[in-house]
Amino acid sequence: MAATTVAPMSSSPADLVRAFHHAFGLDARSTPAEVSPELAAHRGELLAEEAAEVAEVAVTGPLDRLAHELADVVYVAYGTALVHGIDLDAVLAEIHRSNMTKLGPDGSVSRRADGKVLKGEHYEAPDVAGVLRKQGWTPGGGA
Ligand SMILES: [Mg+2]
Repeated sequence: MAATTVAPMSSSPADLVRAFHHAFGLDARSTPAEVSPELAAHRGELLAEEAAEVAEVAVTGPLDRLAHELADVVYVAYGTALVHGIDLDAVLAEIHRSNMTKLGPDGSVSRRADGKVLKGEHYEAPDVAGVLRKQGWTPGGGA
């Protein structure tokens, strides 16, 4: 692979993180697949560390630390998706499609007391397995 990864063609998270993985020789797959338990656990720990850092600064800030840690979570999440060969942009689009079905046909929104948007009667669950199959995933196919 040529060393053309310093200046990515676009600034989407997936492209930035792919450039990082290529530059540092980290795992990257182009088709969804289960990976070794060791690698899967390592990626899970990285993400848990970053999520814990968000929790540390979520209330007390300062705001630049919160912004930093939120970006770290997204970066590591995209990296974990890349390690597993998951096109996370496509999964995110499916989650968004599903979330938007929480809106009633009349534009009504039902909320929990804490403000969380609830699923209405027109709610459609995301078909993440379907998205992964379109990307070439064979469930139970192994690494
Ligand atoms: Mg961090």
